[in-house]
Amino acid sequence: MSFTHAIMFHHFHNQKHQPSQGSISSSEFSNMLDWLNNSFNILGAKEYLNKFENSKLKPNDICLSFDDALLCQYDVALPILRKKKIKAFFFVYSSVYSKKPDNLEIFRYFRTNKFKNINDFYKTFFSTVEKELSENLFFHLKEYKKINYLSEYLIYTEKDRWFRYLRDEILGPLRYEKVMLKLMEDKKFNPKKIIHNLWMSEQHLKEISNLGHVVGLHTFNHPTKISKLSYKKQQKEYEENYKHLNKIVGKVFSMSHPCGDYNHHTLEILEKMGIRIGFRSNLTETKIKGKFEIPRKDHALVLKEMKE
Ligand SMILES: [Zn+2]
Repeated sequence: MSFTHAIMFHHFHNQKHQPSQGSISSSEFSNMLDWLNNSFNILGAKEYLNKFENSKLKPNDICLSFDDALLCQYDVALPILRKKKIKAFFFVYSSVYSKKPDNLEIFRYFRTNKFKNINDFYKTFFSTVEKELSENLFFHLKEYKKINYLSEYLIYTEKDRWFRYLRDEILGPLRYEKVMLKLMEDKKFNPKKIIHNLWMSEQHLKEISNLGHVVGLHTFNHPTKISKLSYKKQQKEYEENYKHLNKIVGKVFSMSHPCGDYNHHTLEILEKMGIRIGFRSNLTETKIKGKFEIPRKDHALVLKEMKE
């Protein structure tokens, strides 16, 4: 248990936000914090940073973090944090606030709301990909199995991992987008109708920062595989993200890696920017390897442990 340095949260549900893969309700969140409190010492984000920098963190000290600037976090989790007087990290990608928000969250909404269930989506997606590639997926499947792709993410199902393999290793961003846009067209899904319900506004970010939470970097476009980008492109991702957040919440000093992906270039860029603390998104490494490599446990794993 001592390697639980931080907990990573994404989706929450209530009347306004539909349940989706891995999402939790307000009461589940509240119970989870109580449960965590039994074994751990939940520190405020700034206190965690302070103790970390002074090598004063105890094995049971942990912090909470929320990725992707999701409105459901503001609506569902924030009131609970307020009640329990816990300050957390919020990692925000900026394209959400531009004219061209990244499609990641839109695609997620589409696949959880416009299909009977996630396997129904996967069935459609896999057969569409097969057509798009006009080749048998057998060879890719063999390779995927050989490398045990993403097996470090204990919360993913077999199909979740195969989906991510096709998306990130075979199709790449452009072809993946093409497939998804086609599926959206087939289902007559118009993202404009739901977009206002996905993310926090800049005003919300200002508000959570004023409440004492810490808003940190999460790149501009949220690439699912930043390690595949050149040094220059990675630098642009973080610098534009920094510029944007700096205007809203002032000096930014923390970050988390989108999809937990990075390479030595990423770490060099963050160091040069003067970022002080950064988080991974899995537990492959249970120890803190460096200041931008603090492991985080997915809230779905905590939920599982609670049920054991
Ligand atoms: Zn993210």
